[in-house]
Amino acid sequence: MLIAPYSESFNPPRRTLMGPGPSDVYPEVLAAQAKPTIGHLDPVFVAMMDELKALIQYAFQTTNAMTLAVSAPGSAGMETCFVNLVEPGEKVIVCRNGVFGERMRQNVERVGAIAVVVDNEWGEAVNVDAVATALAANPDAKFLAFVHAETSTGALSDAKALCALAKQHDCISIVDAVTSLGGVELRVDEWGIDAIYSGSQKCLSCVPGLSPVSFSPAAVEKMKARKTPVQSWFLDQTLVMGYWTGEASGKRSYHHTAPVNALYALHESLRLLSIEGLEHAWQRHADMHQVLRHGLEALGLKFVVTEADRLPQLNAVYIPDGIDDAKVRKQLLENYNLEIGAGLGALAGKAWRIGLMGYAARRENVALCLKALEEVLA
Ligand code: PLP
Repeated sequence: MLIAPYSESFNPPRRTLMGPGPSDVYPEVLAAQAKPTIGHLDPVFVAMMDELKALIQYAFQTTNAMTLAVSAPGSAGMETCFVNLVEPGEKVIVCRNGVFGERMRQNVERVGAIAVVVDNEWGEAVNVDAVATALAANPDAKFLAFVHAETSTGALSDAKALCALAKQHDCISIVDAVTSLGGVELRVDEWGIDAIYSGSQKCLSCVPGLSPVSFSPAAVEKMKARKTPVQSWFLDQTLVMGYWTGEASGKRSYHHTAPVNALYALHESLRLLSIEGLEHAWQRHADMHQVLRHGLEALGLKFVVTEADRLPQLNAVYIPDGIDDAKVRKQLLENYNLEIGAGLGALAGKAWRIGLMGYAARRENVALCLKALEEVLA
């Protein structure tokens, strides 16, 4: 088949990304990605990967040896945790307070395991007491899985308390930190988190398509004690670690062709985070959230999540009565080059999701968003 040659390269518009992700990417990160591609086993690249691993450990606040970036988006990080840790027939307590908790449940069932679901209302944090009751009622449960920052609603759950409960009940904790990493306090070692995954495209403000993950020694032990092989060859961590650290053979070996330039980008975004400092980044998100929140409330918009459980980086607000959801978002995009997010799942058509993630958590962005919304809603 022949096609007429396209005469022009693709030229995306310059948008301001204030939806649920991807977020605005740091200019330095885009520049890093455009650097020359080198071989994924080139000693210079391999040295960069060692630095990258240390940077991911910093972002997660962990010394876990099994820490790396999965060469695929956050969903693959989620799947990496479930397929490597959970074996058919095992019981997993899954907390569901939005879209991504439901995806965890589906992952559990796809590995042939049993999901015991603890449901919460959309917009609420995971109820720690309800989880304690479920753990007590299911002494044979081996895992507790929950979403730290539920992007579909903007609710933040108490990861520290939930992981402490998991430990008390001898369960491995599996934590979704796709939206939380870099945006709110998260301390993997101190809180005793066993398995955690995130995404490059949210508060790290990197290009989409990578998923930082980390596994505690207890999680690694569980993987090594598996009676059945991991059904996914690509996501099998024991094979992937052969490339990331040279574990097993003592020498890094080819597993898959690493997304070389995307890894430069992640290295750069985490380098910027390390310069800013994690705690400073958390505070910046909290501060920008307060400015946005006052402006949104002044426009008469109401938050979906109560103040105590609210994520600074994902602001879900109800769409006022009589307002055409799609028309407003189209006007913002076309007239202001501004993207905000539509509602997802139970909140589809009912709420907007305004992201303040990473590089997007800036005064200029907040000011643009408030001005644009004020004009479009007038
Ligand atoms: N988990 C949460 C909480 C998310 O917000 C997302 C994406 O928005 C994912 C998982 C899936 O990540 P990805 O879209 O990068 O595959």
